[in-house]
Amino acid sequence: MTYVIAEPCIDTKDRSCVDVCPVDCIHESDRMLVIDPEECIDCGACEPECPVEAIFPEDAVPVKWEAFTKINYAYAEGIEAVGKLVATRIEASAPEHLS
Ligand code: SF4
Ligand code: SF4
Repeated sequence: MTYVIAEPCIDTKDRSCVDVCPVDCIHESDRMLVIDPEECIDCGACEPECPVEAIFPEDAVPVKWEAFTKINYAYAEGIEAVGKLVATRIEASAPEHLS
């Protein structure tokens, strides 16, 4: 299992989670941070540190944010792949008058 960072991290990025992760598996992309599922040891230390409650165990990610599981897993393809998926997600969820 792994932990997953979801939408509330977008443009928050305060990095509180990074400071407590014992295996340095939380990585920064353009607009949010993600957890590398290959490296996460499922310790849970990051979850209570997040001021915007963006971090969830993989099996408890809210349905409205389930796309973020894939976004965290995209780290396997590189941080740029993560950035592209996040940008696409932001674009898709932006109100029409802003797009
Ligand atoms: S659950 Fe533990 S190992 Fe995984 S990202 Fe959070 S702090 Fe790091
Ligand atoms: S603590 Fe939360 S908001 Fe801050 S970088 Fe980590 S996941 Fe993002």
